[in-house]
Amino acid sequence: LSDQFTELRERLALIHDVEKAAAVLSWDEETKMPPSGAEARAEQRATLNRIAHELSTAPELGQLLEDLRPFEDEHPFDSFEASLVRVARRDYEKAVRVPPSLRAEMTRSGSLGYQAWLRAREQEDYGIMLPHLERNLELRRQYVACFEPAGDPYDIVLDDYEPGMKTAEVVEIFDALKAALLPWLGSVSDLEPIDDSCLTGRFPRDAQRRFSQFVLERWGMDRAAWRLDKTVHPFATSFAPTDIRLTTNFHEDSLHGILSCLHEFGHGIYERQVDPAYARTPLAQGVSSAFHESQSRMWENLVGRNIATWRFFYPRLQEEFPEQFGDIQLETFHRALNKVHPSFRRVDADEVTYCLHIILRFELERQMLSGALALKDLPEAFNAKMAEYLGLNPPDVVAGVLQDVHWSDMTMGYFPTYALGNVVSVQLWEKAEAELGELDEHFERGEFEPLREWLRENVHRHGRAFTPQELLKRVTGSAMDPAPYLRYLERKLGELFGAAVA
Ligand code: ZN
Repeated sequence: LSDQFTELRERLALIHDVEKAAAVLSWDEETKMPPSGAEARAEQRATLNRIAHELSTAPELGQLLEDLRPFEDEHPFDSFEASLVRVARRDYEKAVRVPPSLRAEMTRSGSLGYQAWLRAREQEDYGIMLPHLERNLELRRQYVACFEPAGDPYDIVLDDYEPGMKTAEVVEIFDALKAALLPWLGSVSDLEPIDDSCLTGRFPRDAQRRFSQFVLERWGMDRAAWRLDKTVHPFATSFAPTDIRLTTNFHEDSLHGILSCLHEFGHGIYERQVDPAYARTPLAQGVSSAFHESQSRMWENLVGRNIATWRFFYPRLQEEFPEQFGDIQLETFHRALNKVHPSFRRVDADEVTYCLHIILRFELERQMLSGALALKDLPEAFNAKMAEYLGLNPPDVVAGVLQDVHWSDMTMGYFPTYALGNVVSVQLWEKAEAELGELDEHFERGEFEPLREWLRENVHRHGRAFTPQELLKRVTGSAMDPAPYLRYLERKLGELFGAAVA
């Protein structure tokens, strides 16, 4: 059997290499490729994806995984051997359910949907988008049907991003969030808004890049294994635990590019700290979208919007932007960075309103998938929820229903993981503080390795060896729970607004 395990490893390494080569092509497309390369690149990526899919669904692989059941049983559950067979079998069983023709049609129709989304935004015309949404929703339903869902059909799309989680659990968590966030937002809206004028002005790109590099290196980005490049929409990707790529976009008129670096660092460090023994296996990546987002949100918000962190970094920021921050007190800057204020754009939302943006999208996705909401009525339904949750009336479809790229191919089940990531981030944080003591004391001295190493030991190194539920249970002893996140926000609102809110 150990020969068969070796063969399994070889097959999985081959799949991994092809997928990572495709990822290199995607990264290049977003950062370096000249525009006229697009057509050829689409073919190259489609070819690699087809090869990876054929390898992932090969009957020989299925047979091997069957033969290895006794091998898996004789190894401890948390051993590399048992974990690899278990995870590879789950991947295989999902992959073989979907016919290649459906996958190909979803990819093709999805990219037409993306092109239509760009045009619809340009012309502020939802009608351009509608037939593509109809087609992509139809395909999404066919996809769901491949899995013969026994319960909520949304469980199937959710499982692609948050394996094992059920829609009902998300509903319960989101209801708890809404019950706290809506009243808080109501009382914040009655108060004098926080002055964040120090965050507008002119911020030379070179200085932003230098400052970002300074922070990220202090946090643990080593130049041997990481790159930071320019893109339109920031993202992080990795080709191996030893090759991490972050991207950002610096604008002269804001610091968003720096904040997105802090966010993407969290994704990058997760992939960087996976156990090196997992390299070239399906275990060598973050376990789920919510866990990944918990890491990016932790570094962006819990570390990156924390006054203790800025006690260390603010003098350097003042040095890089003397005209902007030379006369601004640290406390003023910190308040501005933590402003709570409803805004149209999800990606710019503060910590209190962010989850509401997500919850409204999740609720609409469920209605679209079940057929309770007709796609022609989606713009009004979107605006109605924006009004109900955030008190805002989008002036046009670009600020409304066409805001995000996710629905251009009817990707569903992804949005909720952004908010669940916030929830998980504070569960992990509370546990880290219980074991390490107050992290603020480390941060104000510029010491970030205690947190980083704690995350490596407890979360990152395990990669995909355990399910998200197993991992969270191992680290915190509990299931996903919104209470720590709400405690954190309540404390923060108290600090910002005093007794008026929390
Ligand atoms: Zn993210």
